[in-house]
Amino acid sequence: MAQNDSQEFAELWEKNLISIQPPGGGSCWDIINDEEYLPGSFDPNFFENVLEEPPQPSTLPPTSTVPETSDYPGDHGFRLRFPQSGTAKSVTCTYSPDLNKLFCQLAKTCPVQMVVDVVPPQGSVVRATAIYKKSEHVAEVVRRCPHHERTPDGDNLAPAGHLIRVEGNQRANYREDNITLRHSVFVPYEAPQLGAEWTTVLLNYMCNSSCMGGMNRRPILTIVTLETQEGQLLGRRSFEVRVCACPGRDRKTEEGNFKKDQETKTMAKTTTGTKRKPSSATSRPEGSKKAKGSSSDEEIFTLQVRGRERYEILKKLNDSLELSEVVPASDAEKYRQKFMTKNKKENRESSEPKLGKKLMVKDEGRSDSD
Ligand SMILES: [Zn+2]
Repeated sequence: MAQNDSQEFAELWEKNLISIQPPGGGSCWDIINDEEYLPGSFDPNFFENVLEEPPQPSTLPPTSTVPETSDYPGDHGFRLRFPQSGTAKSVTCTYSPDLNKLFCQLAKTCPVQMVVDVVPPQGSVVRATAIYKKSEHVAEVVRRCPHHERTPDGDNLAPAGHLIRVEGNQRANYREDNITLRHSVFVPYEAPQLGAEWTTVLLNYMCNSSCMGGMNRRPILTIVTLETQEGQLLGRRSFEVRVCACPGRDRKTEEGNFKKDQETKTMAKTTTGTKRKPSSATSRPEGSKKAKGSSSDEEIFTLQVRGRERYEILKKLNDSLELSEVVPASDAEKYRQKFMTKNKKENRESSEPKLGKKLMVKDEGRSDSD
């Protein structure tokens, strides 16, 4: 029934025998159903009559909920530089190019140098925004911890809850986005002084990365954007930040770990393709036979095994797999036959004492019930 109805409706619709009637007449329904509602004859004043206020043309691009962090030099070749500070114990701010990470102490000066190939338009600004690095935290706004927020250390410019401040610039402007509530600080872009290649902006981070109720050990990124006065993006760069007590030491440690990781990766790459040593604890993954003849079959995998016993088991398994590939099929069948007969013999021998034991158990049971 329902299908017939809809079919009927479709036919009538096609023949223009059905039209939606306006409920009261005189509303916009008239126009929608009217023949006048055709692209050629559309009344441009229509929306002005219907809407109380026409939408204001926005000069600002829509704010994204999750700010983009990818590098974008743009037409102006926007990029960042950091002074070389090394990893000495006394250093209060140091940048690692390998990690693209800034290590600094709380509230200490972090000089960030802005470089452009082409001078941006008059009135352009440089903005710094903090964002959590990991996707599981990225939606959360980066703000100071409750303890530091209450500590009176303001410069009468920066709101107490803002993590990033610009030091020594009275033209610094602090913003909390109306929609995303994210904090940012921006300063007018200044062209480099004569003979210089960059302009420097001094950043301060007003909480430790470990601050409870704040960053809480969650790594953050700082996004630096070059924008026009109207907020149009011209360039973007980002870097990771760790605010800690010993920036030099932490940079050294993290760079060491990073290098170790890199070495392990290159080691793994170089061992691939070389012949596996029989003594090493390697094992082919299960199902390697399926890929026989394909290139993946020749790939060498390394398996880390805990305990000698397990290692011996897996090694035996691997050795037999290796062996089975070398032994011709006819020989393998012979071995199998030989093994089967040997096994049968052993089974018969070993079952006899078992039977005796079972009988004994039965006897014991009987004596109990008696
Ligand atoms: Zn804090």
